[in-house]
Amino acid sequence: MSENRNIYQMWEQCLAIIRDNVSEQAFKAWFSPLKPVSLEDSVLKLSVPSDFYREYIEENYINLLGKTLQRVIGPDVRLVYNVSVIEGESVTTPSNNKKAPSNPEISSYEDAAKYNGSFYAIPGIQKLKIDPELNPRYSFDNFIEGECNRLGRAAGVSISVNPGKSTFNPLFIYGGPGLGKTHLAQAIGLAVKEKYPEKVVLYVNANTFLNQYMNASCAARNSNDSSQVADFIHFYQQIDVLIIDDVQEFADKKGTQNAFFHIFDYLHRCGKQLVLTSDRPPVDLQGLEHRLLSRFKWGLSAELLPPGFETRVAILKSKCEQEGVSLSNDVIEFLAHKVKSNVRELEGIIVSLIATSTFSKKDITVDLAKDLVEKIVNEPQVEITIPRIQNMVCNYFNVTIDQFLSKTRKREIVQARQIAMYLSRNLTKTSLSSIGAQLGGKDHATVLHAYNTVCDLIDTDRSFRQYVSDIEKQITTQN
Ligand code: ADP
Ligand code: MG
Repeated sequence: MSENRNIYQMWEQCLAIIRDNVSEQAFKAWFSPLKPVSLEDSVLKLSVPSDFYREYIEENYINLLGKTLQRVIGPDVRLVYNVSVIEGESVTTPSNNKKAPSNPEISSYEDAAKYNGSFYAIPGIQKLKIDPELNPRYSFDNFIEGECNRLGRAAGVSISVNPGKSTFNPLFIYGGPGLGKTHLAQAIGLAVKEKYPEKVVLYVNANTFLNQYMNASCAARNSNDSSQVADFIHFYQQIDVLIIDDVQEFADKKGTQNAFFHIFDYLHRCGKQLVLTSDRPPVDLQGLEHRLLSRFKWGLSAELLPPGFETRVAILKSKCEQEGVSLSNDVIEFLAHKVKSNVRELEGIIVSLIATSTFSKKDITVDLAKDLVEKIVNEPQVEITIPRIQNMVCNYFNVTIDQFLSKTRKREIVQARQIAMYLSRNLTKTSLSSIGAQLGGKDHATVLHAYNTVCDLIDTDRSFRQYVSDIEKQITTQN
């Protein structure tokens, strides 16, 4: 029984370790909602909000979670999940600040309904019938998963199973151009519609929303009758899953932000789902009201990153399949090496390749691809060589090349060497023995050992992971 008394403390200890090893986003999404239920005979029962969580944790974090539990609770610990069914918002209590609403006009869910009702002559019994403005091409099936989008995609899938009822409300998707924000946001809408055809889903670009609001407010001003603005707000308040793309466009638009605030607040309180996208994270959204920004952070912010090599290959293959062409692996890999920053460009290059080969009746070879890439892609291409890696690593750790190549066993220098070996293996096509020869005359086994050591550290040590990713960024970007 004494075990049970300590269980919360132990769980806190576990969370502290986990927090150190996963991103803040992932922590908030997957670990904050877990609650320890009991610990008896080394069996820890954890409550999870849904089966989806259990599966996701098992697939992605079981190693970390397992090791952490062993460390804190003991080597014999076993884990049992207790899946609680989500009903409304009561079960999933995220650690974020879902505070009482600050809008003075609406103080509870019931009041919200009244407030809404007073606006309109006819209470909205009939379900709104609207075109959700979704493009069937932007489905989850066509959205290739990779490290770059794993969190956002998983959250999106979870939302489409249970819109409005997960902790991911709103889901705030952000990232640079052409990385799949619109695609992912639409995929959520499509999946909801497929599973719940009766739900009212609407995808709208922030600019369209803005224009609609401006029209309504202009008309209201001209006719001295504010009901048009009310109608606008009411329309949006009837939506079950509202997807607004590119919310950065709301910057400095006070009236629109105010209207959106009322819509957001109402929908959120009624357990309706919001999905927002933006080209930058909430903290960088200048010109947006504080009360909106703080709401954007209630749920989950998921960043889409540029896809890694493997993902680029998978995307290219999937696009070829959709276009009904087959490209050789050589061509695919060549393109995946050359076009890095952006999925839209990857798609563009495939389309141009197909067009060129059709016109000129030439087969699509690596040479043809090379020609086109040179014409189309203006990404600066850095040549990644082992001396470049060595220089960057030395620079980063403030180690001289002489020290780096010497026989010293000093810890920082050994670590710098190991990182250089690891990066050389990942970023170049050089063999292990050649890497060893170029980095201080080591043999192939030493390089392999270094590689594995670095992999282990990346898995378990957050600041180390940060160093490696910083250096990698420096190596792969033009300077
Ligand atoms: P954003 O809205 O972030 O600018 P989009 O969603 O418009 O980017 O994506 C650009 C193009 O790249 C779209 O045609 C989209 O289908 C495609 N795309 C982006 N990410 C993926 C992915 N993970 N898998 C497949 N296609 C993708
Ligand atoms: Mg977009």
